[in-house]
Amino acid sequence: MPLYSHSRLSTFEKCPLQYRYRYIDRIRRDVQGIEAFLGNQVHGVLEFLYRELREGRCPSIDHLIARFNNSWADACSERIRIVKKEFTAEHYRAVGERCIAGYYSSYHPFDQDTTVGLEERVQLSLDPESRYQIQGYIDRLARIGEGIYAIHDYKTSSSLPSDRMLRRDRQLSFYEMGVRSCYPDAREVRLVWHYLAFDQTLISRRTTAELDEHRRRSIQLIDTIEAATDHPAKESALCRWCDYRDICPVQRDQYRAEMAAAGEGPAGPPEAARRTLPAGDLPAPTSHGGAVAVHRARSGRTKRSGAPAEAEQMSLF
Ligand code: SF4
Repeated sequence: MPLYSHSRLSTFEKCPLQYRYRYIDRIRRDVQGIEAFLGNQVHGVLEFLYRELREGRCPSIDHLIARFNNSWADACSERIRIVKKEFTAEHYRAVGERCIAGYYSSYHPFDQDTTVGLEERVQLSLDPESRYQIQGYIDRLARIGEGIYAIHDYKTSSSLPSDRMLRRDRQLSFYEMGVRSCYPDAREVRLVWHYLAFDQTLISRRTTAELDEHRRRSIQLIDTIEAATDHPAKESALCRWCDYRDICPVQRDQYRAEMAAAGEGPAGPPEAARRTLPAGDLPAPTSHGGAVAVHRARSGRTKRSGAPAEAEQMSLF
């Protein structure tokens, strides 16, 4: 059985045919969506920041922004694809700058916790026999106090998730399982999402029952994937970001038509699939009830696979 990841499971859920192209046929594409590119660039700078802090140095915000812009200029090329034609690469670069500046302003001097891992790889078994293995990488693992850990995840997405979506989040639930198995002293694990474009930090915790439920559902899903002999196309608004539209039987004609009409104006996903604020506008604070705490970052400033908006999310750009 292959090693699974949250992203591999999500790909199957979103579209079994895309899963086949990517994980079975292993068709590689030399393009990257600009949303994912933006995420990688911002993640790289924040990783650099915390590596420097671990060495006892605190880079200035100007230094970080310069590093971001240099890295962006070096790496940005024609293989970076912009799906939302109403936005330019410069728009996304500016969003990245604001993500970094907002984070810096909110957390400087970065003394809230102790970093114990950066891009920390976790591998865990979902079952006692270790047949179902999951791996992932934690953006930053921190220790807040005796036996209290925080799993930090940076998001540059244009959408803020609903409370329900956060509770269902499988990725950080996997990470928590991994942390609990690697750090036996962990008596409390906090899941922390930094929605950088919104300058908001969302915090959640999982009960043992919730983790068990994630484990059970994931095993079920892996069984479904392993048993699948047919991989049907599953069209959605996300098709526009799919790397395989040119060969997908249900999308290739539309893809070719769009290519032929390129330059004739932007096309957006169905209105029901996203709610867009004008670029640069400050989103209104959203209400998240239940066990999820939402913190507005102190700075109040406006504003990785680059997932576009889905239903139940508030979209920013
Ligand atoms: S274009 Fe859409 S339907 Fe086709 S493989 Fe990609 S995600 Fe699936």
